[in-house]
Amino acid sequence: MKLRKSAAVAVAVLALSATACGGKEGSAGDKPGGVQPGASNAPSLPKYIVATDVKVDSPTLKAAQKRGKLIVGSKADQPYLGFEDQATKKRSGFDIEIAKMIAADLGFTENQIEWKTVDSSTRETAISSGQVDYYVGTYTINDKRKQQVGFAGPYYKAGAALLVRKDETAITGPDTLKGKNVCSIKGSTPLQEIKNPKYGAKTTELAKYSDCVQQLLTKQVDAVTTDDSILKGYAAANSGKLKVVGEPFTEEPYGIGMNKDDKALREAVNKSLETHVKDGTYKKIYDATLGLSGSPYTAPPAIARY
Ligand code: GLU
Repeated sequence: MKLRKSAAVAVAVLALSATACGGKEGSAGDKPGGVQPGASNAPSLPKYIVATDVKVDSPTLKAAQKRGKLIVGSKADQPYLGFEDQATKKRSGFDIEIAKMIAADLGFTENQIEWKTVDSSTRETAISSGQVDYYVGTYTINDKRKQQVGFAGPYYKAGAALLVRKDETAITGPDTLKGKNVCSIKGSTPLQEIKNPKYGAKTTELAKYSDCVQQLLTKQVDAVTTDDSILKGYAAANSGKLKVVGEPFTEEPYGIGMNKDDKALREAVNKSLETHVKDGTYKKIYDATLGLSGSPYTAPPAIARY
């Protein structure tokens, strides 16, 4: 017990010094705070069985097989979802595990994955220009994005909510934002939503969620808006300082982004998702990652083939 306490202090100090340097990715006070995915006291993650002799008529997959590795895009600063520990460079979270599960079905071990951090505003470019083979990072499926990228899934349904400081009493939901300064992320759907004049909010638009959280902690903004799944992770990581308020006021079904024309890959990924929802792997992943930040498990939405 004593040991754990001093480790927590060390984390807090580390986080503080990172903040003083201007806030580094995945370290500015946003390290998972409670039980962390992969920790010895966390539910164990499933082992993924790596398929052999995979034959899918997918140009993306064939190129990956030729180079001997898969390039997967993700976030790096979202605790419990897509997080990169700056010290160990290890990635953890729900999206990371979903990406590994799919990779195994496509014949790639964890060590054959090259991770690429891609933030919200550059996802479509990174995918359509082939910088990543697929992308798993709180990526909402919508018609506008479908014009540029293909989506497998959905594999989770989130909704926009608000993150505020623990002592905040005036902001309780989206209809209490008049004149408030709300931070969100360039290229994200919740930012588009909150810019709707009906809310009367001022917006601060940044590239990284961790930077918005930092501005909230230092009182430069009044709230952060994005998916509840992401915000709950930050609240858990900054225990005692932040809280999530407001019922989800948008629908954010998460998909796996990939080349728009690679239908064979899309179907292979859809099959992987369906198989592992059925065999319990998906729930096991959820309980060992996102579930730790306080979002109770709900069965994922049905796959939407198109
Ligand atoms: N799910 C939303 C989106 O795709 C917000 C989260 C994010 O920016 O990744 O825009």
